[in-house]
Amino acid sequence: MPGVKPLTNIRTFLLWLLLFCPVAAWIGWQDYAERYERFFQDTSIAQRMLSQKTVQHEAVLATLSALAHAPMAERLLPSLQPAMPQLLGLGHLRDGAWAGSTSPPADLSGTIERAHRLGRPVTLPVDESRYWLVAPSSWSLLLDARLFIAPADFPPSLAMLTLDVGSGPLGLLARQPAAGSPRWRIDLHKPLGAPSQPFPLHSWRALTSTDWPWAQWVIWAFASCLLAAAGAAWQGARAEARRQQEEVRLAAMTRLSTLGEMAAGIAHELNQPLTAILAQVRAAERLLDDETERPAVRQALLASAGQARRAADIIERMRALVKPSSPAPRAEVDPDALAASLLFLREEELARRGIRLSWHNATPGARPLGDRVALEQILHNLVQNAADALADSAGARSIALRGGAAGAAYEFSVSDNGPGIPEEALPRLFEPFYTTRPQGMGLGLTLCETLAGAIDGRIGARNLAPSGACFTLRLPRAGDAA
Ligand code: ADP
Repeated sequence: MPGVKPLTNIRTFLLWLLLFCPVAAWIGWQDYAERYERFFQDTSIAQRMLSQKTVQHEAVLATLSALAHAPMAERLLPSLQPAMPQLLGLGHLRDGAWAGSTSPPADLSGTIERAHRLGRPVTLPVDESRYWLVAPSSWSLLLDARLFIAPADFPPSLAMLTLDVGSGPLGLLARQPAAGSPRWRIDLHKPLGAPSQPFPLHSWRALTSTDWPWAQWVIWAFASCLLAAAGAAWQGARAEARRQQEEVRLAAMTRLSTLGEMAAGIAHELNQPLTAILAQVRAAERLLDDETERPAVRQALLASAGQARRAADIIERMRALVKPSSPAPRAEVDPDALAASLLFLREEELARRGIRLSWHNATPGARPLGDRVALEQILHNLVQNAADALADSAGARSIALRGGAAGAAYEFSVSDNGPGIPEEALPRLFEPFYTTRPQGMGLGLTLCETLAGAIDGRIGARNLAPSGACFTLRLPRAGDAA
C-alpha cells in the first residue's frame, strides 16, 4: 500500500502485542503446568520404585528372623545377591557371637536394643550410600543405596535425585549439569514408604531456555501477526468507508450551500433593477394624468424597459456563471457609456439622499476589454456599497467613479469619503457571507470578484486618507496584446 502511515504501524504493533502477550503467557503457563505434572508423577514413580526396594529389605529380614535353622551367612549371600544387587553383606548373632559374611556393624548391641524398643528394624548409616538394617532378631543386612536402581531405569523426565540414608544426600541421578542456582526450577521432597527406612528423597529439575515452548510461541506469533494485520486492514477499510461517506455528505452540503449562495446572489443583484423599475413605473403613473408630461412618461417607461432588460441580462449572466465552461464574452467597452448608464440610474436617487455621484474619465479614448453587463453589475455593486457606507456620514458625501489607463491595463475606481473599511475587515472582504452591516448578506463583493475573474479582471480595496474607501477594478485594455 503506498504511503503506509507510521501511526497505523504503531497501532498494528500494539494490537499485535495485545493479542500475542496474554495467549503467549497462557501457552507458557500451560506448558509449565504440564511439565510440573509429569515431573510430579515421575518423582512419585521413582519414590515407589525405591520404596519397593526398602519394603523388600524388611520382608527379607522378617523371613530370616522366622527361620528356625538359620543358614550360613556366607552361603546365603550369593543366593540373594542376583535379586538384590544392593545387598553387600548380612549376618546375625548366633549364640551371642556375630556370624556374618562381613564384619559386624559398629554398635550392634545398641542398635539391636533400639530395634527391640521400636519393634521393627532400624538403620545404622555407614557412609553416604551404605547402611546396616538391623532387625530386633539381630539379623542385619548391609545395603548400598547407590545400587537400588540403575540410573537408566528412572523415568526420563527426572533430572536430579538425591536420597539421604543418614550421612548426607547421596546423588542417585544427575542428568543436568550442576548450575549455580537456576532462577527457574521445580522440586519435590518425598520420604520413602517403608517405616524402617523413611529416607528423604529429593527430586528437582532446573528449567532452562530449551524447556520453554518456543515452537508454540513462534506459531502463535505468526498467527497473531496475521490476525493483527487483518484487524488493521479491516479498521483501515472501515475508516476509508467513513471518509468516503463524509466526502459524499460534504459534497452534498457544498452543492446545497452553492445553490443557496446563488439564490441569494440572484436576489441581491435583481433587487436593484426591480427597485428602479418600480420607481420609474410609479413616477410614470403619476405623470399620466398630465398631458404635457407625455415625453417624461415615455422616458420613464423606456428606462423601465432598460432595467427589465438588465434584470434579464443578470439572470442570463448568473446562468452562464453556473456553467464555468462557458467563457464570458469579451468586447471593447465604452467607459463613458457605461458611466452614463450608471449615473442615469443612480445619480438622482443618490442626490436625494445627499450623496453626490461623479464620473471622471482620465484617459478618454482608452477602453477596457470586458463584458458590459458584468462591468455594470460590478460598478453598481461598488457604488451601492459606497452609498451604504455613507449612510450615516455627516457633512458633504460623495462617490467618485473614475476610469483611465493604468500602464497596460485599464482601471476603474469607486471612492467614497465615508468611514473607510474596518482594519479587521480588509483581509476578509471577498469571503462569501462576510459582512459588517446588520442587513448585509456579504455576497456583493464575492459576486463582484467572481464576475471580474470571468473577464480577467482584478478587484482591490484600500482605505483613503483622511477617510473613505477606494475599490479598484483592473481590466485588460483594448488594443494591447492580451
Ligand atoms: P454586504 O454589502 O452585504 O455587507 P459586501 O460583500 O458587499 O456585503 O461587503 C462586505 C463588507 O465590506 C461590508 O459589510 C463592509 O464592511 C465592507 N465594505 C464594502 N464596501 C465598503 C465601503 N465603500 N466602505 C466601507 N466598507 C465597505
